[in-house]
Amino acid sequence: MTKTHEIEIEIEQETMKRDFYKLFINGEQVESSSGERTKIYNPATGELLAEVAKATKEDAEKAVQAARDSFDNGKWKITPAGRRARVLNKIAAIMGSRFNELVELEILNTGKSLAAAKGQISQAIEDFEFYAGAIVGHGGSVNNVPGQFHNYTEKEPLGVCAQIIPWNYPLMMAAWKIAPAIAAGCSVVIKPASLTPLTAIILGEICYEAGVPAGVVNILPGSGSEIGNYLVEHELVNKVAFTGSTPIGKDIMAKAAGTVKRVTLELGGKSPSLVFEDADIEAAVDGSLYGAFNNTGQSCDARTRIYIHENVYDEFVEKFIAKTEKLVIGDPFDKGTHMGAVIDQCQLDTVKMYVQSAIDEGAEILTGGKELKPEGFENGFWYAPTIIGNVTQDMKVVREEIFGPVVVVSKFKNEKEAIALANDSDFGLASSIWSTNTATTTRVANQIQAGIVMINTPFSAFPGTPFGGYKQSGFGRELAIGSLDLYTETKSIMSYFGSRPVNPFGL
Ligand code: NAP
Repeated sequence: MTKTHEIEIEIEQETMKRDFYKLFINGEQVESSSGERTKIYNPATGELLAEVAKATKEDAEKAVQAARDSFDNGKWKITPAGRRARVLNKIAAIMGSRFNELVELEILNTGKSLAAAKGQISQAIEDFEFYAGAIVGHGGSVNNVPGQFHNYTEKEPLGVCAQIIPWNYPLMMAAWKIAPAIAAGCSVVIKPASLTPLTAIILGEICYEAGVPAGVVNILPGSGSEIGNYLVEHELVNKVAFTGSTPIGKDIMAKAAGTVKRVTLELGGKSPSLVFEDADIEAAVDGSLYGAFNNTGQSCDARTRIYIHENVYDEFVEKFIAKTEKLVIGDPFDKGTHMGAVIDQCQLDTVKMYVQSAIDEGAEILTGGKELKPEGFENGFWYAPTIIGNVTQDMKVVREEIFGPVVVVSKFKNEKEAIALANDSDFGLASSIWSTNTATTTRVANQIQAGIVMINTPFSAFPGTPFGGYKQSGFGRELAIGSLDLYTETKSIMSYFGSRPVNPFGL
């Protein structure tokens, strides 16, 4: 038994905290072929946390070959769905038994708060449980055809999938990708973000420990522009599933065209929240705090544009500022902490740049707007939760994704204007509606151009609910039963059972 921070953990296996993490290819931990390593830092403290082997194209080739071989010649794809489900449940069970270790490692690598990390690791576990159940019921259909014909469809695993994920939810994004893919019988090469590869590497090892055959799950930390590109263009890769920024998503979509790869894109957002005159203002304020500042605002579905009816604008904003100023920011391991660190200096600079642009364009900082140095964490990357008022629709802070704890507030006069403002964006990932009138919420939900609408709640997704965007927030839906279709091909099988042979040419 060892005590790590406030969590008592029973460690039976090799600890997850290591000085050096290797690539995971074909069921083995391996060094990079170049011997190169990436340094990983703790964003909360700025301290060196570990080193990670940095994959080269040669390593990527090995990982693709291992995945290809496991798919073409291995047993996983022909293993009955029920048995694959058993393995997925075992992955979930191992993750559950090592929950605190996973939480600790995720916090060390991201600087996120204990509450945020716990929620995300729990969901990662539930993803495997969900797809264990979903795959058993997933199959083809029998279709209407003329008499004496019989037609049915089969769902066949798609093949080798390259999966590229961002740094904001390292383990949860890895689970969102790996679980449906291997449930469907695919083999994967997953490239975690360079800043946060640790828990994804561990997840690869756990999959293998649970019984996923060698080569089916390969974890390849390395540079996005180098390894990511290589995977996207590789002829032996059938699909690329990408979660990340819209510009990189566009690049991936173009490059995947060369081999007509299947593509799923989960991209950026600039999600609106609409607070109507009849809203429960307390609930709207509390929900908006979470919607904007959970995960330090580094969430694709962060509701960063809040439009409030003019008659309740002052009340909402006053309460929103007061509660924002009460948020506890600091030690990520402290149970009372609401908001952790920003991921790195580069992201901190981006946040500062956006806030400065708002000031330059004439907006007003209502609270925050500054870098923080919490006691004991002076060398980490911290920013105050920030509310910006007096904005116009053309400002950068209204149009572009900031990916930090920054939210804009603005007024609307009526429902029509609220909908127009919400939809005035290149993005269309998520949205919130706050109103006690179900006629209003239903009408508005129908007109919002977003893949996800939250009515009187800040929570956007659970395993089972489709997650994905409209417009430039991407396409394809993760987390739901339908996601299995994105990891399978549909084969239509037509047969004839008539008494006479079919002779269409009459020869
Ligand atoms: P990013 O810069 O686009 O990077 C995402 C991943 O792509 C990383 O693994 C990155 O590797 C890799 N990459 C970079 N350049 C590449 C290239 N040319 N080819 C292939 N892969 C490449 O995004 P991020 O900053 O990590 O994450 C934040 C973004 O993710 C935000 O826009 C957020 O909205 C979005 N996001 C969306 C969802 C969703 O479900 N819609 C969920 C979470 C996050 P390196 O780390 O080595 O650069």
